Amino acid sequence: MPTPIITDGSIGRVPQSPRIVLPTNAQRYAERASRFETLANGHPMAEYLRLMAHVARAQDATLPARAAPPVADALLDASRQYGMPPLAAQSSERGAAWRADLRDIVAAVRRFAGDGVRDALARLAALDDDALEVLAERLIAGTTLDADAAFVPFVGAALQVHFSRLAATLAPGDVEKCDVATVCPVCAMRPVASVLRIGPQNSLRYLHCALCETEWNLPRVQCSSCNTDKALAYLSIEQEGLNAADALAKAETCGECNSYLKIFNQDKDAFVDPVADDLATLALDVLVDEQGFARSGPNLLFHPGSG
Ligand SMILES: [Zn+2]
Ligand SMILES: [Zn+2]
Repeated sequence: MPTPIITDGSIGRVPQSPRIVLPTNAQRYAERASRFETLANGHPMAEYLRLMAHVARAQDATLPARAAPPVADALLDASRQYGMPPLAAQSSERGAAWRADLRDIVAAVRRFAGDGVRDALARLAALDDDALEVLAERLIAGTTLDADAAFVPFVGAALQVHFSRLAATLAPGDVEKCDVATVCPVCAMRPVASVLRIGPQNSLRYLHCALCETEWNLPRVQCSSCNTDKALAYLSIEQEGLNAADALAKAETCGECNSYLKIFNQDKDAFVDPVADDLATLALDVLVDEQGFARSGPNLLFHPGSG
């Protein structure tokens, strides 16, 4: 039989994995809440993880409560032409919507919180708009003070809802030119962690934005902070009956810039969530900190030193 000649170019056409995945998954926070609940079972920090499950449930309820305003044309143009992240968190106007999100989240979590957290939520609810803006600025800039540690998860949660709602209105073409590998192409924040994805993003490594939940591809074995590949090593916590290669969570450490970021392998657990799993593996941070590496990206639901 003659070999059919294929002329439509279908040979060798491999479906391309997207470089940037915008946060259009409307179930994200419900899924994260379930993940926190799963991770809390038998965990030494179960109470804290269950509180975070309530925070994620409140985020899930708050996300559809408001519509995202359109992103200004000037910002979209600058992004399409010059690769400037259109919602740069440190410089863009936040408006008042995130504070309404915060008040919703505080009211929802308050119903489930124990006395200590209830007290913090009451103090947070009493702050005026200016004070809340100062908190948001500090959290985004990474200069939160210890005195505000108790407020961090709630302010962080509200900012995540606000920025992910805005980011979900973008089209991939709006941010294609933003290609600084170490910061989010949408909001210019640092990643909370990275994930080796399964499914359409088959085995590729994606960094997950700490703020707006966008993911972007960065090749494996490359430092997510200084972009070099010379001095990377992987640390994990030894678990009985499991060899290191099978660990769900590892810390990718870089000897060039002395930083680290966690990398989760979704192949080991399909339900892994970079934000929830990061908070359930703080023991790994302690281990890596002791080796002299500094974490390169924040988890906005956690203030270092508050756990
Ligand atoms: Zn982002
Ligand atoms: Zn590095």
